[in-house]
Amino acid sequence: MTETQAGSEGEPLFDTIALIGAGLIGSSIARAARAQGAVRSIVATAHSPKTRQRVAELGLADKVVETNAEAVSGADLVIVCVPVGVCGAVAKEIGPHLKPGATVSDVGSVKSSVVRDMGQHLPKSVPFVPAHPVAGTEHSGPDAGFAELFENRWCILTPPEGTDAEAVNRLADFWRRLGAKVETMTAEHHDIVLAITSHVPHLIAYNIVGTAADMEEVTRSEVVKFSAGGFRDFTRIAASDPVMWRDVFLNNKEAVLEMLGRFSEDLAALQRMIRWDDGEALEKLFTRTRAIRRGIIEAGQDTAVPDFGRPHSHED
Ligand code: NAP
Repeated sequence: MTETQAGSEGEPLFDTIALIGAGLIGSSIARAARAQGAVRSIVATAHSPKTRQRVAELGLADKVVETNAEAVSGADLVIVCVPVGVCGAVAKEIGPHLKPGATVSDVGSVKSSVVRDMGQHLPKSVPFVPAHPVAGTEHSGPDAGFAELFENRWCILTPPEGTDAEAVNRLADFWRRLGAKVETMTAEHHDIVLAITSHVPHLIAYNIVGTAADMEEVTRSEVVKFSAGGFRDFTRIAASDPVMWRDVFLNNKEAVLEMLGRFSEDLAALQRMIRWDDGEALEKLFTRTRAIRRGIIEAGQDTAVPDFGRPHSHED
């Protein structure tokens, strides 16, 4: 694993960038690239006419086109910003239309399956540098994006062995220009790390919100009324895009199931501590987890503002 140095401002790094998909991530890249002068020109497309029209209305790109093939034909950098389940199909569509000398990348939250699914359809002469900006919100679509989304967040690059080093460095520079910190690792390692830091936490949130919604003895209105006691923060995560997250779990199956196995064992241990009144063990674990939270704040990955910075309401 290598961490690269912070980038510098200056000339655009690419002439034309093509964004395939203009949701939260694609539209944030467009906004940030423009704000930072990272590219001269932006071409964007999306699946539906409705999204393409919205991208045009918001003025996010210099050109909004109807097809993925048209979007990439003149692009020096192509970033595929679609749910990971369709990355392969998109690569198949764009493969024959890529400009010689172009670089292709993506932003998928899973890397091994994307490397496999996209890699097979891209010409060998075009460097493919998979990437994952570890930044997001529970919102989706072109209106949800903002230029500062990547500031001080990590962007993980997972170039397969033998990828053109210059293309990797240029993409790293691009992400640093957008405000991100860049780290390189293998796709397999990425998928294990993200399974525990992102994918399993999302699954837990989806599960707990689903369980609460199913409980008959607690009415729905009480779940909403008393949500400040911890549940509310799970509901934010569980409001994340259903299609994106469906694809994450189906495409990072092995790592997620492995981490869930460990999680279930640890949960069983917690059940035992409660059953046998082992307060000492509970306190020891909670002290250890509190230190992890402090470490995240010290690393600048979150704020120490109480209640996640929300103004306090009367029910709290
Ligand atoms: P999103 O807001 O739902 O946007 C997805 C975009 O992809 C939409 O513009 C959609 O068009 C377009 N699209 C879907 N299929 C397409 C196709 N076949 N051809 C062209 N465009 C297509 O999703 P997002 O949150 O930006 O996520 C995009 C990617 O970023 C995913 O791979 C996700 O894993 C990754 N990611 C997400 C986050 C996050 O927190 N959200 C963070 C890091 C990485 P329509 O609107 O017309 O359907």
